[in-house]
Amino acid sequence: MMDAGRHPNITLLTYSEVEAVSGYVGNFTVRIRKRARSVDEEKCTGCGLCQEKCPTKVIDTAYEAGMGKRKAIYRPFSQAIPNIPVIDRENCLFFTKGRCKLCEKVCPAGAIDYNQQDQTLEVQVGAIVVATGYGMWDPRQLPQYSYGLSPNIITGLQFERLVSAGGPTGGHIVTAEGKEPERVAIIHCVGSRDVNAHPYCSRFCCMYSLKHAHQVREHTGAQVYEFYMDMRAFGKAYEEFYERVQEDGVIFVRGRGAEVEVLPDGKLRVKGEDADLGRLVSVDVDMVILASAIEPQPDADRVAAIFGLGRTPDGWFAEAHPKLRPAETATAGIFLAGCAQGPRDIPDTVSHADAAAMQVVRLFNQGEVTISPTVAVVDEAKCVGCGECILACPYSAIARNLRGKAEVNPALCQGCGTCVATCPSHAIAGLHFTDEQIVAQIEGLLEGVLV
Ligand SMILES: Cc1cc2nc3c(=O)[nH]c(=O)nc-3n(C[C@H](O)[C@H](O)[C@H](O)COP(=O)(O)OP(=O)(O)OC[C@H]3O[C@@H](n4cnc5c(N)ncnc54)[C@H](O)[C@@H]3O)c2cc1C
Repeated sequence: MMDAGRHPNITLLTYSEVEAVSGYVGNFTVRIRKRARSVDEEKCTGCGLCQEKCPTKVIDTAYEAGMGKRKAIYRPFSQAIPNIPVIDRENCLFFTKGRCKLCEKVCPAGAIDYNQQDQTLEVQVGAIVVATGYGMWDPRQLPQYSYGLSPNIITGLQFERLVSAGGPTGGHIVTAEGKEPERVAIIHCVGSRDVNAHPYCSRFCCMYSLKHAHQVREHTGAQVYEFYMDMRAFGKAYEEFYERVQEDGVIFVRGRGAEVEVLPDGKLRVKGEDADLGRLVSVDVDMVILASAIEPQPDADRVAAIFGLGRTPDGWFAEAHPKLRPAETATAGIFLAGCAQGPRDIPDTVSHADAAAMQVVRLFNQGEVTISPTVAVVDEAKCVGCGECILACPYSAIARNLRGKAEVNPALCQGCGTCVATCPSHAIAGLHFTDEQIVAQIEGLLEGVLV
């Protein structure tokens, strides 16, 4: 991140969102909304005095996953690049009640700007890489795990904050009562590989759960019970790490953790089936860590519409080909990297991002683009300019020309045929796939077999 922040050829637009994309490969126009931080980026030195003095504390549901608090003026996460805070206008006393302004008073650089407005920028780019990652699935959707009923039932992400030196407990693994746990249960596949939630495997939970088991053993010496269906230790040196965690003394229970019960004394009872022993088991513990599923970002529909991306049935952005073109999309010049395309751990994300970057380099080095000849063409004499095809086109490849007729941009058209089927005037056909040509091909094929 630091390197990206310093690189002369990289412009970081943080706290910003893409609102619209038009154009085609080599020639995209991207409209970006740069949200108002209420802090002047040019003046701010990142000294942190404003955050220190701000009197308003709010639960941080984003970076701290609800485990800690932040101020109303805050840096979204530690090591943020650029190191510039933002005012959360929904909680800031000045924005909600018209008083306070302490941050403005203490800022030595005079960087606080309550009047700052969102800015709209337009940039021209030749290619786009979508790397919007994943969202966390909420385990409340499977009530048998009692998530939300005890502060000691936490997700893997919350455990990450607990064990982090910069987290709310300074890296001490403690229960909500402030005591080190004596017994901890980790439940795999909560919401993954489950027809009641997500049928797919979230891929990295097995390995981070092993990491969590190791951290609990190392930091607290607590007894750890790990409920798993099967261990997916598929990467380089992962199996060896699994063996090491077994040697750490973690008790592995092969079977889905079925239920977590909050007992009257606050202890947690985890019930499940031990498939190896062929019987039901139950353990009482002080802390439960749920390895909850990941899912496409909540705004994936909107992002897909902006970039003209397809989705696979499970909601992830669709690659052009799962084996041969995993970083490309069906739209030329738009690429995917990381979990936006599907669950993958950091090494696989880095490889995927490298692949996407190389695709862009290759595209730019080529200097010209080869497009598929299978595109839609409009017969202007038949087109009545109703615009049905424009609405139907999933790739935003059709627009009205100066004569009010539909015109297909061959650089964007993927030849899917939706417009051909939609056009009420039968004015659109696939190039070399007119009805007459298809009928002639069928007749040719059948010639030998007809008697
Ligand atoms: C609890 C837990 C522990 C893990 N531990 C490990 C581990 O030990 N080792 C390992 O290899 N992997 C681990 N992982 C997996 C790791 O988090 C992922 O492999 C990695 O984060 C994927 O990176 P990404 O860039 O694809 O997605 P993300 O990390 O999700 O990054 C996507 C980024 O895009 C931003 N974004 C989203 N939408 C938009 C938008 N519309 N506009 C602009 N920005 C947007 C997001 O804010 C985010 O910063 C763990 C995951 C979890 C949940």
